Amino acid sequence: MSVTRLEVLSKDTAYPVLIGAGIVRALPRLLSEHGVNDQRLLVSTARIWRLHGARLGQALAPRDRPALMPDGERAKTLATAESLYEHCTRRNLDRSAAVVACGGGVVGDVAGFVAATYLRGVRLVQVPTTLLAQVDSSVGGKVGVNLSAGKNLVGAFHPPVLVVCDTEVLATLPRREFRSGLYEVVKYGVIASPALFTQVRQHLPEIFGHNAGLLSAIVADCCRIKARVVASDERESGPRRVLNFGHTIGHALEALTNYRRFRHGEAIGYGMLAAARISAMRGLMKADDEQALAQVIQAMGPLPAVADLRIAEALAAVSHDKKVVNGRLHFVLARGIGATEIVADVHTRELRAAMKAIGMV
Ligand code: NAD
Repeated sequence: MSVTRLEVLSKDTAYPVLIGAGIVRALPRLLSEHGVNDQRLLVSTARIWRLHGARLGQALAPRDRPALMPDGERAKTLATAESLYEHCTRRNLDRSAAVVACGGGVVGDVAGFVAATYLRGVRLVQVPTTLLAQVDSSVGGKVGVNLSAGKNLVGAFHPPVLVVCDTEVLATLPRREFRSGLYEVVKYGVIASPALFTQVRQHLPEIFGHNAGLLSAIVADCCRIKARVVASDERESGPRRVLNFGHTIGHALEALTNYRRFRHGEAIGYGMLAAARISAMRGLMKADDEQALAQVIQAMGPLPAVADLRIAEALAAVSHDKKVVNGRLHFVLARGIGATEIVADVHTRELRAAMKAIGMV
């Protein structure tokens, strides 16, 4: 089995990201190599465990029966975290323990939050099972839960000690979930890597066909970019903001539709188109590059409709965004494919024009 190993530099430590097809079968060995002993709590969902428990469970001991949390964004709550704390106490986990999150971004964020807070912090291992979690949420140390007032309002920066990305696990992902992660891959291409962008553009059928070598290379490229950005700015005060390309208008679309209509990546797909429009209107992005982005997004498949979504409401949602600092919206623009610029002077007029261009009313 070929395994790619990357190191992510964190504040006062570094952690490995291991990527390979079939690598979860080596999880018990990897855990013990990283000092994770019997004091551990596996967290997953019934759905994920039904699909992949055998592969994971076969290699793990019976004591590793996982704590199964409910599935989906609605489970990303303090109540779910509390039920996981109870699993920790029932199993007498002490401060030497580790939480092992096996699932998508929701499991990773909640289990990560539990790891950050149980006994004031125990170790975290991420075993991401969605493309989005492999290329994005499992790396970087952001963990948290939602409140009824909004997404990710309670959380922590708690880097994992180990991330294990098995691209074989992605074979069971519904196509829409797979695509959702692929929009984030396109984002990495736009912000940092023309080569990655071109690879996705030229090999979509092989990517959707789960070509093992290609998928592992793509996940590794994305993690490498995220690792580089995060190492330079772990707590998101500056350079890390480039990762938000497409997220300002994307988040507004998600909020406007109560997080029901779009998968996260789909909203980012629209957000990138809108950000590219503003970049092109400012002369930062060439028409060819804007068109290439639009083409790849279109080729990936249909996005949910936006023709009934009101620009005025989206503008109000944008003004509540976390990216507004001291009353100014920090917006990530593209300087072509592979480079970005963060600006604080995007005018409502430009936002309105971009939203109109993606089909909102
Ligand atoms: P998700 O965790 O809800 O997973 C999507 C669906 O796929 C779920 O129904 C899940 O059960 C299913 N699933 C997972 N793995 C599967 C597999 N291998 N086969 C079949 N089905 C599988 O969603 P997501 O898109 O992975 O993550 C979204 C979450 O990630 C959001 O809450 C978002 O806020 C968070 N996020 C966090 C960060 C971060 O830095 N912490 C970054 C981006 C996103």
